[in-house]
Amino acid sequence: MYTKLLSPLDLGFTNLKNRVLMGSMHTMLEEIPGGHERAAAFYAERARGQVGLIVTGGISPNSEGTVFQGSAQLSSKDQIHGHQIITEAVHKEDGKICMQILHTGRYAYHKDAVAPSAIKAPINMVTPRAMTDDDIERTIADFIHCATLAKEAGYDGVEVMGSEGYLINQFIVKRTNKREDEWGGDYSKRIKFPLRIVEGIRQTVGPNFIIIYRLSLLDLVEDGSSWEEVVHLAKAIEKAGATIINSGIGWHEARVPTIGSMVPRGGFAWITKRLMGQVDIPLVCTNRINTPEIAEKLLNEGCADMVSMARPFLADSQLVKKAIENRSNEINTCIACNQACLDHTFSMQVCSCLVNPRACHETELNYLPVNKVKSIAVVGGGPAGLAAASIAAQRGHKVTLFEADNALGGQFLLAKEVPGKEDYAETIRYYKSQLEKYNVDVKLNTKASKDELVLGAYDEIIIATGVHPRIPNISGIEHAKVVNYIQVLRNEIEVGQRVAIIGAGGIGFDVATYLVEESKANSDQAISSYMEDWGVDMSYEKRGAFTQPAIEKSERTIHLLKRSVGKHGKSLGKTTGWIHKSLLKQKQVNMISNVEYKVIDDAGLHIRVNNEDILLEVDHIIVCAGQLPSNELYNALLQQDLTVHIIGGAKEAAELDAKRAIKEAAYLAAKI
Ligand code: NAP
Ligand code: SF4
Repeated sequence: MYTKLLSPLDLGFTNLKNRVLMGSMHTMLEEIPGGHERAAAFYAERARGQVGLIVTGGISPNSEGTVFQGSAQLSSKDQIHGHQIITEAVHKEDGKICMQILHTGRYAYHKDAVAPSAIKAPINMVTPRAMTDDDIERTIADFIHCATLAKEAGYDGVEVMGSEGYLINQFIVKRTNKREDEWGGDYSKRIKFPLRIVEGIRQTVGPNFIIIYRLSLLDLVEDGSSWEEVVHLAKAIEKAGATIINSGIGWHEARVPTIGSMVPRGGFAWITKRLMGQVDIPLVCTNRINTPEIAEKLLNEGCADMVSMARPFLADSQLVKKAIENRSNEINTCIACNQACLDHTFSMQVCSCLVNPRACHETELNYLPVNKVKSIAVVGGGPAGLAAASIAAQRGHKVTLFEADNALGGQFLLAKEVPGKEDYAETIRYYKSQLEKYNVDVKLNTKASKDELVLGAYDEIIIATGVHPRIPNISGIEHAKVVNYIQVLRNEIEVGQRVAIIGAGGIGFDVATYLVEESKANSDQAISSYMEDWGVDMSYEKRGAFTQPAIEKSERTIHLLKRSVGKHGKSLGKTTGWIHKSLLKQKQVNMISNVEYKVIDDAGLHIRVNNEDILLEVDHIIVCAGQLPSNELYNALLQQDLTVHIIGGAKEAAELDAKRAIKEAAYLAAKI
């Protein structure tokens, strides 16, 4: 079925079993005690899942290049052992693995940061030191030494990180390289640094070792590379001895979302396609490729020789195996939320996955077959209930799932209606496949009662009844203009042109997005329209392919209100919040803080802000003021002699999120 994707790739001296590359991800496992063993289990499981080639998270060639003080580096022989644990585990599963060499340059979060020129990155507090000629020669030698050590540790190759705005990329473009010596100035001098690294590695490691070069095809920053320069570099890198060129999309400081959920699937493969035919070595396309279907389509369209998927392997280690066995319906799809992966990494926590809490926790969370089959009732078919029911059933329990609504999915049924969150539907599809596979008795339109559960004589009961919206205590809250976010996202009412949203948390932002954006996920123009909106110059006439975003002011007038002081969006995801804020800003949503709600009447919403009375003349007031737990059933059952558990929003509605809900469900269902 996925003929192209699953066909082998001949690299001359070695063969890859298919066209799937598991892209580099910094999991933080490299930095914690016992991390190498955990990383070995993590990568081995993906190798067992038949990934063609794995690339590790970035490892620095020296201390200056580390992400933060003490983060992973490979610069001496005594560091080899930990890596051997990883390579042996992967090879035992007949997998192949390359180690990424990453020097952060001016993106380092420590005082020893270095860069071609002493120019601070807009996303970092640290001003780097400009490298001397000796520093540059030493760093090139460190890259080469690092690759030699990687080979000694048993890796099948290395990936040289030359994109995303890290050190090598900083040498290549004038934006960050203002040098006037032999390492700066014209293009041939600026690319000497990566070429010397790749040539040096090839000379030292010999011909039978994979060298992937991650080349920035789109810088998406001002004064980035031109297309002619990108092609020139690709040819030179091939000549220098690279085996594969992987695509780099956007610097970290770029203001274009490149991996967020609003990026159309396969949205950046067009740029790799443009490079096809310019070099003879295989090219890899990347970013927002999350299903075998889209991967196969891109390969068939000639976008690349191979596809890179990274986060999809956190969501499902067996993605490739399921594709091979024609079970793609059973793939747990990455929904690009970043909540448990990148948001964790950027807050120094071990990475995992919102839809798969086992990711990076393979040594501690396992769904083992049960010794004694129990009869289990799960009440609530939102993310928590779905996860609990499917994992318990997978382990062998006899599970009945009660859902009061006529459909499964809970809050995800609402989330999938928000433009840019369409993939949340995939999680519901995945869980449905699991419920079916493991014979869960699903009772829709069934509000389980205390008596029914008592009579059912279940061994254990899991309450996952979720939340209900908080109704704020505002005079006039019962006015016909007032609606809640569920009515809006279910399209039950026609929302007027003038709107006030009470509450600016995750759901307030989602509702505002729903009101100003149209879902383009299934449109033929999804990619071109996305690129235009965010200022990606697909003609590549501009350096860095970056131009002015074209997002237009919304036709609706929207006021997004909150009582607390300070900027909006603080509770949003660490790596995605800026995208939501940027979109609403460009749509000219009126964000008001420090709001005191006075009264709602026919005229609209009366508020007081900084001692000034204001009337917002609006057609609708949408309440997004947080949630309260729906825990009445749980409380009633507590009085019975039953084993009852409570998880997700029903347990704790404040700071409710699907990550916590699914994690609680998984840990409970693993031990029940
Ligand atoms: P939330 O993030 O806790 O936000 C609730 C909002 O309501 C706050 O802005 C709060 O602001 C306001 N509020 C609270 N009590 C109020 C009251 N009595 N009267 C008036 N306003 C009140 O909750 P949510 O927006 O319902 O989101 C729930 C959870 O879903 C989030 O915690 C998040 O984890 C998840 N989620 C995340 C995203 C995302 O990150 N993209 C999207 C959707 C959902 P003030 O107190 O300042 O008024
Ligand atoms: Fe994908 Fe979200 Fe999981 Fe990260 S946490 S791998 S973005 S589903």
